[in-house]
Amino acid sequence: MGAIKSPQPRTFSRGIQTVTLIPGDGIGPEISTAVMKIFEAAKAPIQWEERNVTAIKGPGGRWMIPPEAKESMDKNKIGLKGPLKTPIAAGHPSMNLLLRKTFDLYANVRPCVSIEGYKTPYTDVDLVTIRENTEGEYSGIEHLIVDGVVQSIKLITEEASRRIAEYAFEYARNNQRTSVTAVHKANIMRMSDGLFLRKCREVAENYKDVKFTEMYLDTVCLNVLQVSPGFDLGFSDLCAGLIGGLGVTPSGNIGAHGVAIFESVHGTAPDIAGKDLANPTALLLSAVMMLRHMGLHGHAKKIETACFDTIREKKVLTKDLGGNSKCSEFTADICRRV
Ligand code: NAD
Repeated sequence: MGAIKSPQPRTFSRGIQTVTLIPGDGIGPEISTAVMKIFEAAKAPIQWEERNVTAIKGPGGRWMIPPEAKESMDKNKIGLKGPLKTPIAAGHPSMNLLLRKTFDLYANVRPCVSIEGYKTPYTDVDLVTIRENTEGEYSGIEHLIVDGVVQSIKLITEEASRRIAEYAFEYARNNQRTSVTAVHKANIMRMSDGLFLRKCREVAENYKDVKFTEMYLDTVCLNVLQVSPGFDLGFSDLCAGLIGGLGVTPSGNIGAHGVAIFESVHGTAPDIAGKDLANPTALLLSAVMMLRHMGLHGHAKKIETACFDTIREKKVLTKDLGGNSKCSEFTADICRRV
């Protein structure tokens, strides 16, 4: 069982630090409360500045995040975020995308680590997905051509391809990872994915100490499901499935200007919202990544160990983990251990 590693850590001042907390929608407030309780029990030197992120229209009718949330993030630089709901096909755009664009959070980092004692089809999984957050399928550029025909643009630039490749190699070096795999579909999208791949190859030339491989997306999915050895930095929600699903998978969104927002990978879970049934593990482990990013390794280790111990002991587990306990009971068990 590996530790949930941090992306490139930064140096922060000592003492109590303020973090912007975006509780989010659905189960977001419940799991945010759980994280705050555990942090308090662990005496983590963090104070929270809570901000709502609801879509509002700014000048010219453009969708934007509320100014209070932006100001708080600009000031604190570090955020912890619960899930945000996205209306399908109408209304405001994804607030997740808007946050990533507003703060240029270009690198999505998802460590997928098996949790000891939690039985899943695959054990000993320990890989990290690094995904470009701001372009490709996340460009969000769509047009109605004529009735019944829609065009979505997958935008790829040299600059964003180079910086995400550099981020991945730097991450590998800083976190004792031995290889980076570039995942692509350059056989079909020859120009766009071809450009991405060329930049990855160029960057790899500067990191001879890290093994570089390239692989078609389809082959990666097959190999990951067959748990082919050799993956260190790889791809997506598929990997979350290997370690038991979205309820236990953390992530960090790292920006170019010192801003980072950590968030659980799962959504708002409207089917269980407000029922004290949610599993707070993914948000808690995202908060652990955040602590490591802030250089608070002792507190990170203490909280992570308590969470893994609760899961390993199997006495107090939420329903999605195979137990019958409430979110608040699971939280209290972790609090007792920190
Ligand atoms: P979801 O992740 O919310 O739910 C899928 C299933 O997993 C549900 O059965 C849910 O109960 C369960 N689940 C998810 N998280 C859980 C947890 N922590 N504990 C226990 N069970 C959990 O996915 P969805 O239903 O496709 O999406 C619902 C909403 O969330 C949508 O509006 C979507 O746009 C949004 N969403 C937001 C984010 C984000 O903010 N990062 C990510 C994904 C989806």
